[in-house]
Amino acid sequence: MEKVLFASAHVDRIDADCSLPPKFARLLDKCGYEDKFKDKRVAIKMHVGSGMGFYTIHPIFVRMVVDAVKQAGGKPFLTDGSFSTDMAVARGYTHEVVGARVVGAGGEHDRYVYTVKTDFPDLPEVQLCGNIVDADAMIVLSHGKGHGHTGYGGAIKNIAMGCVGYGSRGAIHALMRAHFEWDSELCTHCEQCISGCPTQAIRFNDRDELGISEHHCRYCMHCTISCPTGALQMEQPLEKFEKFQRGMAEVCRAVLNTFEDNRVHYISVLTNITPLCDCWGFSTPPLVPDVGILASDNIVTIEQSALDMIDYERLIPGTLPDQLCPPGDHGHLFERIHGKDPYEQVRQCVAAGLGSTEYEVEDVR
Ligand code: SF4
Ligand code: SF4
Repeated sequence: MEKVLFASAHVDRIDADCSLPPKFARLLDKCGYEDKFKDKRVAIKMHVGSGMGFYTIHPIFVRMVVDAVKQAGGKPFLTDGSFSTDMAVARGYTHEVVGARVVGAGGEHDRYVYTVKTDFPDLPEVQLCGNIVDADAMIVLSHGKGHGHTGYGGAIKNIAMGCVGYGSRGAIHALMRAHFEWDSELCTHCEQCISGCPTQAIRFNDRDELGISEHHCRYCMHCTISCPTGALQMEQPLEKFEKFQRGMAEVCRAVLNTFEDNRVHYISVLTNITPLCDCWGFSTPPLVPDVGILASDNIVTIEQSALDMIDYERLIPGTLPDQLCPPGDHGHLFERIHGKDPYEQVRQCVAAGLGSTEYEVEDVR
């Protein structure tokens, strides 16, 4: 059974040593980094967020991970999709603050990639970011939050969307290719869908009809989620959702296959758990009280345990944006919010042979 190390955010005594950073330091001491990382170049893969988002992982925790790798004799660098590295500075992820360089995973222009084959006919090949493949080891440092496409964005998404080039990200999203419905009667022409689109794929034509360019669309659903009137909807058959999750699992397998055994470690930070991905460029209030920080050697274990610890019962009233209210009435918190079972990506990773959902928790105090 896989072990999950857990540092709880709960403070039981008014004592700095009982707060999350010292507990996280004790957790890092138990991670066996010397065996994993001594003399290795270690990619610390994050999703650094964008725009005005202020609820990504606090730099203090990033610094602690960097220091732990250095103390173990490793050579860390921080990395994310090349388009995101400028955004890292705005959130305090700079060499001066976190103690490591921030490097574009796919090189300066997101074109440094290695193309590999997969076993999935709908996604026969993927372009893996060169600076990830070239690293000797990796820490997948993820912020746990909701996600419109997958229900949950954690370690699986951090790898599947963040360790591939732009073309492959589009190809994975296109597995969910679906039909858009636009209701001109409900549309107020507020253009929120247009300003929310990361690829400028959506616009009104000369006759004031809303159109979406299939070529540019990544199927991220920012437009449908941000539409305040429900005028824009995307039909999403279940099999397409499952196909998308399978695509993510295949990418994870392809990325993990580039590392030797015992060279990848997972840390998921469950603080400031918001309903939308950090790529949206803004933050809404955290949905539940901070849970803490989890660490594991296995991708399935980290994701299953993180999801299990985010309880619907702990939803703080008033924290959901009005457009996401009321939440649905069944399933995980993120299924109620996004209508998608966040455990599907975990099941697909199990089916891909990446691990098992059985785990035990060691509470690090
Ligand atoms: S799904 Fe995403 S990429 Fe496509 S039109 Fe909507 S916002 Fe743009
Ligand atoms: S967000 Fe909705 S209401 Fe506003 S322009 Fe787009 S489709 Fe119309």
